[in-house]
Amino acid sequence: MKLYDVAVIGGGPAGSYTAYKLAGMGYGVVVLEAKARLGERVCCTGLIGRECVSTFGIDDKVILKWANSAKLFSPSGRLLRVWRQEPQACVVDRAAFDMAIVSRAQGEGAEYLLSSQVRGVTVGEDRVKIEATRQGEKLDLDARAVVIATGFGSRLAEGLGLGKFGDLVTGAQAEVETTGVDEVEVYFGQDIAPGFFAWLVPTSSPRARVGLLSRLNPGHYLRKLMSSLLAQGKVVLAEAELSYGGIPLKPLARTYGQRVIVVGSAAGQVKPTTGGGIYYGLICADIAANNLHRALASDALTAKNLANYEREWKGKLGRELKRGYRARKFYERLSDQQIDRLFDIIKSSGIDEALLSEEDLSFDWHAEAVLRLLAHKAISKAIGVMKIPFRADKIVY
Ligand SMILES: Cc1cc2nc3c(=O)[nH]c(=O)nc-3n(C[C@H](O)[C@H](O)[C@H](O)COP(=O)(O)OP(=O)(O)OC[C@H]3O[C@@H](n4cnc5c(N)ncnc54)[C@H](O)[C@@H]3O)c2cc1C
Repeated sequence: MKLYDVAVIGGGPAGSYTAYKLAGMGYGVVVLEAKARLGERVCCTGLIGRECVSTFGIDDKVILKWANSAKLFSPSGRLLRVWRQEPQACVVDRAAFDMAIVSRAQGEGAEYLLSSQVRGVTVGEDRVKIEATRQGEKLDLDARAVVIATGFGSRLAEGLGLGKFGDLVTGAQAEVETTGVDEVEVYFGQDIAPGFFAWLVPTSSPRARVGLLSRLNPGHYLRKLMSSLLAQGKVVLAEAELSYGGIPLKPLARTYGQRVIVVGSAAGQVKPTTGGGIYYGLICADIAANNLHRALASDALTAKNLANYEREWKGKLGRELKRGYRARKFYERLSDQQIDRLFDIIKSSGIDEALLSEEDLSFDWHAEAVLRLLAHKAISKAIGVMKIPFRADKIVY
């Protein structure tokens, strides 16, 4: 049987980017993807930051719209408008975005096997055995190493003893038609998206993606939000098909093992503040490919050797994920009145303007922005009055 260097399970952004990098280094790479068509039926708003676009050379053709502002609405409807001269983020066509990375991987020689659902992974002394079903037929493959890039919901990593996500949330989304809403809108409130937030993101006029995150009953809250947007005259079609997706809020206990690396949402490499996972998944895919390259080149694919992958990605993202998670838990404890109060203080003290003028704060890195927000005298005083303890430096998972 043919022995591939690397089998990547999952042809989403994280899997395909890892495949692209490794195939470009000359390794024999196969990507197994359960779907018959790549990029289809993806529940994602497709919002990524400018830094992601430039770091990973994202093609203009997959970008539907750039955004340089957003309107944030408090539970009682107070408005904060955040704005910068330069576009901060863009919305991508997720199917085209995924396909663009697939084309890069294929261009480097990665082989794609679609309609191939991986059912089992067995790690042996000198190889990994992959059992899949392809269009109803059994498919067995051998590779020197495996990359699990299955997104949320697969149990392959857990089956290899790498643990489960410590916390998660469900996202719900629908495509709607707006009456000319041209800016991203974000809605906060316990009756809108308890503990989280909801959004309306214009894509190609007059279309928009409306969605939210919630631990409980996201479909119920999304239908309610769509009715409210319809009543406000912001959308014209309230009857739309809802799609759902899980989002990890904490990483897996372990993201590597002998001959195994887990990357992207499957590893929990997601911003705990917003649930955005595309950029962090790509960053970690890059780190995964470099570490696998070293291990493959020296034929030393032990867990000990691959541990450096986790050290490296945690070195880059660990602080962000921990602080973001702590900020998330803090936010989840706020009542609507407290959120309204914070909106008032931010606006009256000009904290929004001050933070927006700080060039080093960006769409993709939230820990520092949260720290600076909370360090502001008026905010920390209000939090003291609310009696909700928050020490961003004291974070325990
Ligand atoms: C409602 C919602 C909105 C979101 N909005 C944003 C956003 O605006 N910006 C952002 O950055 N992130 C967003 N995300 C998160 C983002 O979608 C994910 O972080 C991202 O898709 C993760 O990429 P990935 O490559 O790790 O996994 P995925 O994109 O999930 O790809 C995994 C692939 O693996 C395949 N697969 C799974 N199991 C198997 C198997 N056993 N065998 C073979 N193939 C398998 C799947 O079919 C899939 O194609 C959102 C998520 C939700 C739910």
